[in-house]
Amino acid sequence: MGWFKNWRRRRLLARAQLPENHWRAVAAGLPSLRGLTDPELSRLRDLSLLFLHEKQLVAAGELELDDSMRLYIAAQACLPILKLGLDYYAGWTSVIVYPEGFWSPHRSLDAAGIMHSGFQARVGEAWDRGPIVLSWADVQQASSGDGFNVVIHECAHKLDLLNGVANGMPPLHSGMSLPAWTQAFTAAYDTLCRCLDLGSEPPIHPYAAESPAEFFAVVSEAFFEIPTVLQAAYPAVYAQLRDYYRQDPLLRLG
Ligand SMILES: [Zn+2]
Repeated sequence: MGWFKNWRRRRLLARAQLPENHWRAVAAGLPSLRGLTDPELSRLRDLSLLFLHEKQLVAAGELELDDSMRLYIAAQACLPILKLGLDYYAGWTSVIVYPEGFWSPHRSLDAAGIMHSGFQARVGEAWDRGPIVLSWADVQQASSGDGFNVVIHECAHKLDLLNGVANGMPPLHSGMSLPAWTQAFTAAYDTLCRCLDLGSEPPIHPYAAESPAEFFAVVSEAFFEIPTVLQAAYPAVYAQLRDYYRQDPLLRLG
């Protein structure tokens, strides 16, 4: 079926009507895309068009999604898979976009083993085999390129979930070393937790200390938005992400 999917995708791209100036305007609003070559930008445009065709972007609440907003989300979603391909986002079809942060059902087990149910404020969510949920107000923060990118964060969770468990380690490519990944991420995670315990200013968003899965999602945001900061703080993690995403944002943004 692979050839049929590829044929259908090529046909869709041949028929797609996206004015180049519209695409360039959306791309110009995303600092994380600076330094991409023209062929890379064209590939990102094609991936974004296919993403918008294969995923359903649904506005929730009072939000209305126009074509520019859809493309703005798609371009960010496709940056992590620029060198991996759209099939890395197989198994889910929807992106739900709220106007702002939203309340999500939440269950947690306390130290005494008692289950608590309630609601938690969220700006994004990625459900296993389900939708990505985003707050549009927070999606727009990508325009500042400050290391906070909720679209990349949730897409990183989707990649992490490809082996069925959100543990901060997506299925690695052949040639990558599992022990090297584990060592780099464990050491950096421990360093971050120690830094927070000491009350020091962390180099990346402290939410990364929530769990190894959140650490992977937050360092992925930093990798694409503030690679210089990530490389200086956790060079071994940067090197692993460079091998995993098959991109080197430091070269184009550093
Ligand atoms: Zn997360």
